[in-house]
Amino acid sequence: MRTNNLYKIFVLLICLSFTLCGFSQSRGLCGTYKIDTAALKKAKEFENNNRLNNSIQSTSFTIRVYFHILNCNDGSFSAATPAQITTEFNTLTAAYSSNNICFINAGYDNIYNSILDTNFNVNTSDPSLFNYYRVPNCINVFYPYKIKGTNSACSGTCGIGGISFSIPSTFCLVSRTNIAAAQTVAHEVGHCMGLLHTFDHSNGYEDINGSNSSTAGDLVTDTQADPYGYIGQNCYSTSSNGCTYTGYCTDPNGANNFSPPYSNLMTYWWAGNSITCYSSLALTNGQYIRVNSYLNTNSDLISCESPPSVTESGVSISSGYLMASAINTLSTSGTVSITGTAISLLGGNTVILEPGFDANPLAGGSTLIRLSQCSGAANFAIAEKLKSFSDDAANTLIAYPNPTSSTIHLAIKLVHNENKISVRVYDINMKAVKEISLENLLKGNNMVDIDLSKFSSGMYAVTMQGTDVLMRALIVLQK
Ligand SMILES: [Zn+2]
Repeated sequence: MRTNNLYKIFVLLICLSFTLCGFSQSRGLCGTYKIDTAALKKAKEFENNNRLNNSIQSTSFTIRVYFHILNCNDGSFSAATPAQITTEFNTLTAAYSSNNICFINAGYDNIYNSILDTNFNVNTSDPSLFNYYRVPNCINVFYPYKIKGTNSACSGTCGIGGISFSIPSTFCLVSRTNIAAAQTVAHEVGHCMGLLHTFDHSNGYEDINGSNSSTAGDLVTDTQADPYGYIGQNCYSTSSNGCTYTGYCTDPNGANNFSPPYSNLMTYWWAGNSITCYSSLALTNGQYIRVNSYLNTNSDLISCESPPSVTESGVSISSGYLMASAINTLSTSGTVSITGTAISLLGGNTVILEPGFDANPLAGGSTLIRLSQCSGAANFAIAEKLKSFSDDAANTLIAYPNPTSSTIHLAIKLVHNENKISVRVYDINMKAVKEISLENLLKGNNMVDIDLSKFSSGMYAVTMQGTDVLMRALIVLQK
């Protein structure tokens, strides 16, 4: 279900919980991925050409991410709640924040598809089944209730924790079982942005002495040799507690003094036991450089990135997508009309909606105004006298000043007398925080003041509903 009106954009859907049956709660591991060697070559060339200047790491990125909650056809076995999606987004943001890689939450939807929710098998099912649901120009993270597939860690019974089918990629899956577990969402998005497992050996086993670290293992030089991937030698299970390597496997030179990157985001050392050995997983500098190189060279990923600033103008859509975001300021100019079933995001550190902006989507459509906090305080402004979101052309509601520090004036113009109009103020969680009734309003101009001084700073929605009238406005309280 998508939110269907502007004033519902912050609705947190309340999901019914269902009795769980038959599915293991164990955290699973990643499914097998394919490495796009052409994309890897481009990224490594970029990296080599820019290794000696610091710009490769000082570039800022703000990447749009869209989340999908899978449900069965009848709504059962919902994989996540909206609150969990918010937490997942925050986990993702935190994992990459120290290297100027930021994300903007482009929204979420619910998908009702039993096959994808509980019956998708990474060994036998076709990943292109997800394509229909992918939102363009975003990294898409899907949350199925269960991802089936071979998982050696639990003899195949616990399923797969997450998968990015290709590296790089703009979509991945995270199983319900791995929500809030070991930063799985950041791990999978790490795959999307070009990172291999530290124990990857598709290019050969890595020497402990690091001599072949750029061409073997995960192809990143500052991640130490990780014996987890020595398939067939069962090295991982010889660790005494899953948190510290105590095995006796050897590297290609016969050395056995492994000191793997236990707390790396792209390891599996967190997995396979119920103890959280390393609560905070991180990337090495080399991995960040690799990600940055992909973000500079891979056209699919580049399509998900925000420019420094952007102005949207001359937009009039009633279907499809408008995914617009800026690292700094997103502004509208002139006509930006989003109606019908269009799904849209207007995001940035500052969002300025000028007169001419009109968002009035029908059921199935949504408009999300998202302030990212990637660089300093996020801001939102509606130009004064912005015509608000009336459902008809004749009745108008103008909220001013906007932003306000305490009282908002509502200038209401009606084409008919109205016996009663209900005015409700909603907070960002769509909880009604104030409700008043206006009675015996005459056609023409009316004025109402609403005191918001007891509320904390933030974005609020005002709705005014009467027999023939439905008008809405977004207002910003800045104390
Ligand atoms: Zn993985």
